[in-house]
Amino acid sequence: MLKTYAYPEFAHRPSTDQTGGRLRRHPVIVLGGGPVGLTAAIDLALRGVPVVLLDEDHTVSVGSRSVCSAKRTLEIWDRLGCAGPMVEKGVIWKTGKVFRRDREVYRFDLLPEAGHRMPAFINLQQYYVEEFLLRRASEAGVDIRWQEKVTKVEPHDDHVRLRVETPAGEYSLEAEWLIAADGARSLARRELGLAFEGQTFDDRFLIADVVMQADFPPERRFWFDPPFHPKQSTLLHMQADNVWRIDFQLGRDADPEEEKKPERVIPRLRAMLGEDTGFELEWVSVYTFQCRRLDRFRHGRVLFAGDAAHQVSPFGARGANSGVQDADNLAWKLKLVLDGTAPEALLDSYDAERVHAAKENLLNSTRSTDFITPKSPVSRAFRDAVLDLAERHPFARRLVNSGRLSVPAHYADSPLNTADGDAFDSAMAPGSPCADAPVTVDGRPGWLLHLLGGGFRLLCFGDAPGALDVDGVTVEPLAAGRDFEDAEGLVARRYDGRPGTAWLIRPDQHVAARWRSYDEGKVRAAVDRALAR
Ligand SMILES: Cc1cc2nc3c(=O)[nH]c(=O)nc-3n(C[C@H](O)[C@H](O)[C@H](O)COP(=O)(O)OP(=O)(O)OC[C@H]3O[C@@H](n4cnc5c(N)ncnc54)[C@H](O)[C@@H]3O)c2cc1C
Repeated sequence: MLKTYAYPEFAHRPSTDQTGGRLRRHPVIVLGGGPVGLTAAIDLALRGVPVVLLDEDHTVSVGSRSVCSAKRTLEIWDRLGCAGPMVEKGVIWKTGKVFRRDREVYRFDLLPEAGHRMPAFINLQQYYVEEFLLRRASEAGVDIRWQEKVTKVEPHDDHVRLRVETPAGEYSLEAEWLIAADGARSLARRELGLAFEGQTFDDRFLIADVVMQADFPPERRFWFDPPFHPKQSTLLHMQADNVWRIDFQLGRDADPEEEKKPERVIPRLRAMLGEDTGFELEWVSVYTFQCRRLDRFRHGRVLFAGDAAHQVSPFGARGANSGVQDADNLAWKLKLVLDGTAPEALLDSYDAERVHAAKENLLNSTRSTDFITPKSPVSRAFRDAVLDLAERHPFARRLVNSGRLSVPAHYADSPLNTADGDAFDSAMAPGSPCADAPVTVDGRPGWLLHLLGGGFRLLCFGDAPGALDVDGVTVEPLAAGRDFEDAEGLVARRYDGRPGTAWLIRPDQHVAARWRSYDEGKVRAAVDRALAR
């Protein structure tokens, strides 16, 4: 049991599927109630899709796992109505410092500009994140079934059948679509006989979560070869409730059982924190990690998301963050396919876009891991030379890799994009996630992303058309000067909003197309393209 957190207990309550003795088919079943399954379930439920979520556990994530939730993830959770309490509870940060021995080598600022509702990062323990998501899932009407372990996944052409084990016995149920968010050891993946390939790293890391009152600022600190832990690396993060996450690299030969013992852990912490700093151990574990992924994320009626689809090292905080972006990408597409408004081919774009994102995450994660844990004398010599140079020469600092932190994927090559015909001066392009900006509505302050919401939008600068129905899909215009005031001029600056400009935005707040002047025919064609029609 943790000192700062009391785990909730969720009882098993047999559903009518189990007690009714009749095999029922649901539109969507989400397998797994981690951050990814919960996000997908909330998004679908808020879009009006009845969702059943099955989880074998009786509580939220146990122990110390995800800490850092990134801006894009928070923007997604904000769209779903649950980021507020997370930001309030979490530790907000944006600065990172990298040290070599006891000297600072360089520092970075992950959000140097103002005018965004969400911070660059918050640090919040995964169990809190899941608790807030669960609260929202209940409000949204998700049918959450605890202590229901899926033991069999049987895919068919037009549905998936599941066998479920519960404290009240076994039962079967079916789904038109299954979202497999059952984590790194995914049963769904094994049941479908899918390879999960990549790299396994041998280095062991010790996680020590300690409760202490400390006056370190809320920033990420990373040490190469620190005096208190020579020849290895150490990472420090502040979390909620004055819990500090400290990661010690241990090397390949460390004995995990020995290293977890308080008599080994406490001296390491004393060496780092000083003899006078009082602390209590909250959690200790030793882990190794892998960087691997499925070849494809859509397998007929089974859609893989989160750790079930891809696994990365924790350096860069790309695990849950990228999984939540999978859910964000998938939910609107699945809703439109279920409604018959878009063809199943739209789900192939989930595959294309999120496999692209996973490749990017894996590349970054693997590179960071190679830099932090060099595998050969040559790569260690290179790493040390970079660190030597970085102490004196700014050009070498960008080569220092202590974990490139999670950023959202830009789906530049997505089949859903309409290519630019006009020139734009903006950091965004078709496929990019939308930038936020402050606005006012009826004199009250607000945010652009709130106004964009979760449907197709046409963000217009200058004259705006009325709502457009494109074969069952509504495109709502959102016009600067009419629907909102561009309070600080940042919407126009970030979207290069010269008069006449129109941006077509997808329901997951990614750019589908943009033009310098409005043309209804072009908008209709771009919507069809964004729906794979
Ligand atoms: C040390 C460490 C630090 C990390 N730090 C970060 C970080 O800072 N930022 C970040 O973004 N990520 C981080 N991660 C990664 C993050 O924890 C994972 O990426 C995230 O938990 C994946 O979420 P998920 O929902 O895909 O899977 P999980 O969280 O693993 O959830 C899977 C769920 O499925 C359920 N389940 C599994 N099998 C079955 C079954 N057969 N039947 C029913 N239910 C089942 C489980 O009970 C569980 O609730 C870290 C991980 C580690 C280990």
